[in-house]
Order: sequence, then structure tokens, then C-alpha cells
Amino acid sequence: MYAGGAPDGTGSVPLRSLREEGRGANTCWTDDKKSGHSPPVKQTIVTLDMEGVLTPEIWIAVAEKTRIPELRRTTRDEPDYDKLMRGRLAILDKHGLKLSDIQEVIAGLPLLPGAREFLDELRTHCQVLILSDTFEQFAQPLMRQLNWPTLLCHRLVVENDHIVDYKIRIQEQKQKAVAALKLMNYRILAAGDSFNDTAMLGEADVGFLFHAPDNVKQRFPQFRSVESYGDLLSLFKAELGV
Ligand SMILES: [Mg+2]
Repeated sequence: MYAGGAPDGTGSVPLRSLREEGRGANTCWTDDKKSGHSPPVKQTIVTLDMEGVLTPEIWIAVAEKTRIPELRRTTRDEPDYDKLMRGRLAILDKHGLKLSDIQEVIAGLPLLPGAREFLDELRTHCQVLILSDTFEQFAQPLMRQLNWPTLLCHRLVVENDHIVDYKIRIQEQKQKAVAALKLMNYRILAAGDSFNDTAMLGEADVGFLFHAPDNVKQRFPQFRSVESYGDLLSLFKAELGV
């Protein structure tokens, strides 16, 4: 087991070493049991989707405010995210909608009732990461209302207030974030509401659907589904043993 940094002195730690570290931890567990010491408790991180779980769907709010019904389509309706986003950008272009128009809608968007209290309590028990397919430019007013939890998301390409493109930081970022955290020997609990969450839920040690529409529940019956923050908090607390 290395003590820090790479053996070549570059300071970078190759993934292979992290995997070996994980195997080492398992060995330590066995040794601790033999020696009579308490086994180490594996640390847990909760990863949560944002839209539909903590906040309203941004694009539905924009559709209502702008009265453009085509913007109502979300990841709940269209599993192909690129197809969904290209369609949204084309609609914005067609109607001359700028980034500031959408930011104005988001600034007036309240959280889902009870979301702040739910997240505040959950964060007293464990670390929580928000994994969202939204964009930095959209998320800030919502993060302020949520008391600035850590958010991993994407970025829009904007020129003179015109959204010209979007940049996905990495494909399947939710699932890959969970996989990376597991590589760091964390246990992951996750919750999401939509098609773009199911890879994250599957990668997590335990995944829950929250506020999911019937078509998502029917297609992914392997994930336990709940509808209230109280129930979701109880499930997380049971998994955390608190
Ligand atoms: Mg969602």
C-alpha cells in the first residue's frame, strides 16, 4: 500500500493503485476480525438528482412561462439526452429566447415543498452530492435556496446571451461519479426520478426512485420507489443506521 502520491514521484495516483487500495481495505477487514478489533464502518455518500427530486423541472417552468408547450419535454419523456437538448436549443432559437430569459424564470422558481428541510437533515447524517444533467448557468439560484450543496453538472456555451451549444463534461456523469466514489471505498446510496438517473441508481450500492412517473417505475421495478421526503429520509436513515 502506498503512503501518498505515485511511486514515480509525480504525485498522480493511477486508478490501478486505487483498486489495489480497495482490495487492501478488504484484507484489513478480515485481519481486524481475526484480531478482535471492530471492523471499519464503510463511509457512505448519498447522491441525489436535482430536478424532480429537490427542484421543479426547469424546462417545464420555462415552457409554462413562455407558453411554448414543446419545451415541456424532459428526460422523463425522451431518454436520449442529446436529442432532447438539441431539440430544446432549436426551439429557443426559433422563439428568440436568450439565456437571461431562462435565468429570469429560474430565479423565480421555488424549491419543491420540503426539499430544503429534507436536504438539511440528510446532510447532518452524511455527505450528499447533487448529480444533475443541468448546467452551471441554470443551477446557481437553486443552489442558493438549497444552502449551496455540492453540485456536479454540465456547462452551456453562451455567446452574447445566446445559448449556442452545450458541453457535457463527461458522458454518463452520474453513473461515473458513483463508480469513482466506489473506487475510493465509499458506499453509495442514490435517489432520482427519471431515465437519466437509472444508471446512477444501478451503479449505487442502493438506489431509490423518488417522485418517479409510472413509465419509469414500470421499466425499472428493481428500484424501490417512494413519493415523500419523509419516506425517502427514513430509507436513507435505515441504510445509514441512524
Ligand atoms: Mg430528475
